Amino acid sequence: MRARLVVASANPDKAREIAELLEGVEGIELLPRPAGLPDVEETGATLEENARLKAGAVMAATGEAAVADDTGLEVRALGGAPGLYTARYAGEGATYQDNVAKLLVALGDGADRRARFRTVALVMFPDGSEVSAQGVLDGSISTVARGGGGFGYDPVFVPDACGGRTLAELATAEKHGLSHRALAFRALTALLGDRLGRTG
Ligand code: IMP
Repeated sequence: MRARLVVASANPDKAREIAELLEGVEGIELLPRPAGLPDVEETGATLEENARLKAGAVMAATGEAAVADDTGLEVRALGGAPGLYTARYAGEGATYQDNVAKLLVALGDGADRRARFRTVALVMFPDGSEVSAQGVLDGSISTVARGGGGFGYDPVFVPDACGGRTLAELATAEKHGLSHRALAFRALTALLGDRLGRTG
């Protein structure tokens, strides 16, 4: 397969992970998001719609196929929040620390701490067609933040089957072995291979 994809994510932590996950995938060439493009307002009603808005804006600005990721943290005891509002849970311009602090306060010492990360990865082509895939990681929210790796809510997200460690306590390669983003991008790559293999 041959695909040139502009990374549509303006979040440097997500863009880095996308590059790490797609690095070495045969036939995919990643181009950075052009500096100076305005941020895209995430007004969609679903992760998929927001991924489409981001990829569509960058595709329209560059004329190249663009790849976007939209991710939500869904906490069962909070009725699925923060969900679509994961990046701005503690308000517009909130830092990762602000968001984590708000989440720990919202859960208090509640016993139900089940949560999942969900990522939708989507490529939009210049002809308006698209390919998308989803990845889900089940786990729970710790009572205190632990670990120095990753980003965002990683210090409080404990994936199932990792011995109680948070995502921020895993090595980068371990996170990429199981994460919501890795699952979404692996599935996306397989679909792209099918599509580009057919069209040459
Ligand atoms: P969005 O996908 O740009 O809407 O951002 C989602 C928000 O979710 C980010 O700002 C992070 O706070 C958080 N997030 C996304 N992916 C991860 C991850 O892999 N680990 C921890 N937090 C994440």
